[in-house]
Amino acid sequence: RELDSAKNSPELVEKQKVGSGGKIVCRFPPEPNGYLHIGHAKAMFLDFGYAKKNGGDCILRFDDTNPEAENVEYINAIIEMVEWLGHKPAKITFSSDYFQELYELGRECIRRNKAYVCHQTQEEASSYREEKKDSPWRDRPIEESLSLFEDMKKGKFGEGEATLRLKIDMTSANPVMRDPVAYRIKFSSHPRTGNQWCIYPSYDFTHCLVDSLEWVTHSLCTLEFEVRRDSYYWLLEALDMYRPFVWEFSRLTLENTVVSKRKLIPLVKGGHVRGWDDPRLPTLVALRRRGFPPKAVNRFCASIGVSRADSVVGMHTVEWAVRSELDSTVTRAKAVLKPLKVTITNFEEEHTEVLQIPNHPQKESMGKHEQVLCKHVYVDETDFRMEDEKGYYGLAPGKTAMLRHAYPITVKEVLTDDEGIPEELLVVADTAKSTKPKGVLHWVSAAPFSAPAEIRLYDRLFKSAEVSDGTWLEDLNPESEKIVSSALVEKFVAEANVGDRFQFERVGFFVCDKDSTDEKKVFNLTVTLRDSYGG
Ligand code: ATP
Ligand code: MG
Ligand code: MG
Repeated sequence: RELDSAKNSPELVEKQKVGSGGKIVCRFPPEPNGYLHIGHAKAMFLDFGYAKKNGGDCILRFDDTNPEAENVEYINAIIEMVEWLGHKPAKITFSSDYFQELYELGRECIRRNKAYVCHQTQEEASSYREEKKDSPWRDRPIEESLSLFEDMKKGKFGEGEATLRLKIDMTSANPVMRDPVAYRIKFSSHPRTGNQWCIYPSYDFTHCLVDSLEWVTHSLCTLEFEVRRDSYYWLLEALDMYRPFVWEFSRLTLENTVVSKRKLIPLVKGGHVRGWDDPRLPTLVALRRRGFPPKAVNRFCASIGVSRADSVVGMHTVEWAVRSELDSTVTRAKAVLKPLKVTITNFEEEHTEVLQIPNHPQKESMGKHEQVLCKHVYVDETDFRMEDEKGYYGLAPGKTAMLRHAYPITVKEVLTDDEGIPEELLVVADTAKSTKPKGVLHWVSAAPFSAPAEIRLYDRLFKSAEVSDGTWLEDLNPESEKIVSSALVEKFVAEANVGDRFQFERVGFFVCDKDSTDEKKVFNLTVTLRDSYGG
């Protein structure tokens, strides 16, 4: 494979060296028609990573040749996410920066008898392609194509009335080689060039030429582009231009979700999620909102490696990376999702005891916070049962469990509502700590030592591991988001800022969401403490 790129003449190799300053040059070429997702994180990890490892440059290039789908919102969001992952583009470029040069190269192709203006409709062209038959316009005189191409540019044709096609080989076994379209007419305004152009270059025409114009040495892309490698090299050779080394890697596919803009766009536009940053999505803005540290995303990319083999990665792999990053860095705290009132009967009404709690059980350097214990506390209702059972360590009538960082408590009486649902536990605290119960429970004190919070729990977006193409929308998991609106958190947690992370002990890792208000903070589940996906 190295031979492909070695076919460059010594003169071209020399020119490339001058152009690139002798460096390795890679590029990451997103189309600004949506937000970046975790698949792009893999591509960036390789493009920026390969350049960095070799002391080279990586260009962030917007592949903006389909004006209808592209806009400035996407461009800005992409730049933000590239930075978020810690990548430093040597420069930011746009395929549209080269529209004039590309147009000249289109003319040069015609002059070299490597392109022609064609008037077949899309349907005609594709059926001719299937039958491996030449277009009737294929052999028209060079002069004619030159002037018709100019007419296309001047807007003298309607959309679909003319295309510029490369004259490759209509009999090729590779359908991409059967005279692909180089230019098509679109009367759409472009986010950067406005109405300056009504002809736009195709991916096949643009990608290789801009790679070469930017002196890219290593052009990495996903495997679906492998069939386009022949035309990539054909065009550069036809124009005597420098040929970068092309290498394909497998797309990232994640279980229980979709990692492709083609699928993410309908999810967002169809209102199936609340926006591009809905924490259930695998977009980078969503992962950030969900509390994934950028380091963990890169750690995940490193862990899956590069290969040409198609692989579907389980969600537990991502969660593993996130957990291993958060475990050693995040402050521990207490949050009670479903509060059950507990009154400690052997405490005075005004009992307040300030406990000094380490922010991390193993890392003293992370400091401490205060938690106040008073007469009225809350535990989670799932930590109480009317019937005790072997192997159950929570509370039950007569049973003892430990309030973490405080005292053992024993249930003396259960107050219930009319239907027998427990409403309050009357307990006695063993302030001498004479017993050491197995069960250790998280808890918070009543107001003002705790505050109400909304907790958003997330689960897989799709029910099936492999999301099928046809019926995929029916496969959406209706339980992918659960909102717990009456949780209680420790006082210091309620003072969090957006983006602050906590481990709520025995529950999971959480991050403070942008929907928070001063009255009520909102926390998103980043990951549970254990692997919830059975991997
Ligand atoms: P999508 O199907 O999501 O629209 P795309 O390839 O059209 O993908 P681009 O914005 O053009 O999206 O992609 C920029 C780069 O990211 C390309 O090099 C592409 O190969 C790579 N890329 C896109 N999706 C994935 C993925 N799931 N895994 C790895 N790389 C990806
Ligand atoms: Mg693309
Ligand atoms: Mg795409």
